[in-house]
Amino acid sequence: MSCESRAIDQLRESGVRLTPQRAMVLEAIYHNDGHLSVDEVHERVQQQSPYVDLSTIYRTVMFLKQQGVIGELRLDGQPVRYEAVRYGKEHHHAVCSTCGAMIEIDSVDMQELSDILTQKYGFAVNLIHLTLTGQCAACQAISP
Ligand SMILES: [Zn+2]
Ligand SMILES: [Zn+2]
Repeated sequence: MSCESRAIDQLRESGVRLTPQRAMVLEAIYHNDGHLSVDEVHERVQQQSPYVDLSTIYRTVMFLKQQGVIGELRLDGQPVRYEAVRYGKEHHHAVCSTCGAMIEIDSVDMQELSDILTQKYGFAVNLIHLTLTGQCAACQAISP
């Protein structure tokens, strides 16, 4: 089952009606595999439905976030972004401080770091909201 249909099931189970607006916002976020700001969600939805205004999009995004079917990402100096819930597949984020590109890091790859911190420092790290900053491969190629 796709993550999108799981999200829709989750809404149904909570007794939430999937209005056309909610469906379009959900689709914009789930089909772009990325991390979209409210403005970007608005642009995508407008391609299908040109008359939906930004405040409607904003309210719908907030509602879907409260329902737990989209995730929120807050990064310093950037607009808040929203992403699909990857059910059962945790991931972390790494952001390029030069171009702002965001990549996802499989939680499995962070497990080793977590183990080292526990074994060596006795520190139980909370990796749930971890965001790494650095430089992406493309930016390193331009200015190493
Ligand atoms: Zn970059
Ligand atoms: Zn992500």
